[in-house]
Amino acid sequence: MSRINVMKPWMGSEEVLALAEVIASGWVAQGPRVAEFEAQFAEAMDAAHAVATSNCTTALHLALLVAGVGQGDEVVVPSFSFIATANAPSYVGARPVFIDVDPLTGCVTAEGVAAAITPRTRAVIVVDQGGVPVDIDPIRALCDPLGIVVIEDAACGAGSNYKGRPVGAGAVLTTWSFHPRKLLTTGEGGMLTTSNPEWAARARRLREHAMSVSAADRQASLLAPAEEYVEIGFNYRMTDLQAAVGIVQLGRLPEIVRRRRELARAYTEALADIDGLRPVADPEWGTSNFQSYWVEVEEGFPLGREELLEALASAGISARRGIMAAHRQPAYQGVEVGAESLRVTERLTDNTLILPLFHQLEDEEQSRVLAVLSDSARGEFS
Ligand SMILES: *Cc1c(COP(=O)(O)O)cnc(C)c1O
Repeated sequence: MSRINVMKPWMGSEEVLALAEVIASGWVAQGPRVAEFEAQFAEAMDAAHAVATSNCTTALHLALLVAGVGQGDEVVVPSFSFIATANAPSYVGARPVFIDVDPLTGCVTAEGVAAAITPRTRAVIVVDQGGVPVDIDPIRALCDPLGIVVIEDAACGAGSNYKGRPVGAGAVLTTWSFHPRKLLTTGEGGMLTTSNPEWAARARRLREHAMSVSAADRQASLLAPAEEYVEIGFNYRMTDLQAAVGIVQLGRLPEIVRRRRELARAYTEALADIDGLRPVADPEWGTSNFQSYWVEVEEGFPLGREELLEALASAGISARRGIMAAHRQPAYQGVEVGAESLRVTERLTDNTLILPLFHQLEDEEQSRVLAVLSDSARGEFS
């Protein structure tokens, strides 16, 4: 019985060829391929400026810095997200204020944000959780007049749409991940996109030690111009090796999204006949790339979430527990939550699981997954 994983990147000989070209060129660190990837990514995501980074976590750090978030500020974030979303505010001396999410989308809402705003709130990080587009317009309408910067953590969102445009296009600052658990991968990698040219220029500097002249520009001239370090920066660069892979991956994105949505539809159609398993769905304002196809194991289903994971594992299927709740982690012990409770977050974290879904998942493999789910629904697995 072959193993079915929850996720597998789709890469091939085109990526190998792109890497070989970069190696032969002799320039492997941040250089022309990174610039090319940035330009193509900005175009694909309908963004004005793109700055490649080492990963999405460092892009979030840069986003908060360029937005002017610092010591003593509050940043409203969902607890229901990968830990990096909650960690980023601490990097700049700010405090995360956790809010709950909507049970259908797993994303924050304008009402939730509104209840958590205080005079100290400087920014809000909204997440396209599992690829589901967050309804950002009402959140911008609330925050923009108050001078609160809305940052979109679109780590999972490449290929998702909001009101007919790519997610992130409606934010002033958006961050992206190219970790293999997301749709596009460069091994590790990230991107910051922004509509603000000054923020883009500062992020570009900060990711490279805040050097006044980039390494690529110095390399381009025989007599390198003297550089200056204008503030305390970081090394958050992507390499040309990664960017070359990213360019090929970006070309695959439409095909990846098409196949993922086809597989998601097949899951959803089959789950309609299984009582007690509620799948994530497209919201009315957009389409998901289904980066995480999660189902909630509802009360009344014969098996609990852990038992269902075990049933899947015994059939060679590696599903995963649903999205985590940051406020429950030891790192956040003692951190107070926002005005609202985190009831939905805790319910979803405890009762959801993520089913295998990746570009090369075969129909027969998906049928194997569904067979375990329907057998479990009939109590045939306990
Ligand atoms: C994966 C993920 C991140 C972190 O991305 P890295 O590229 O691994 O740093 C941040 N936020 C969310 C919502 C994620 O899913």
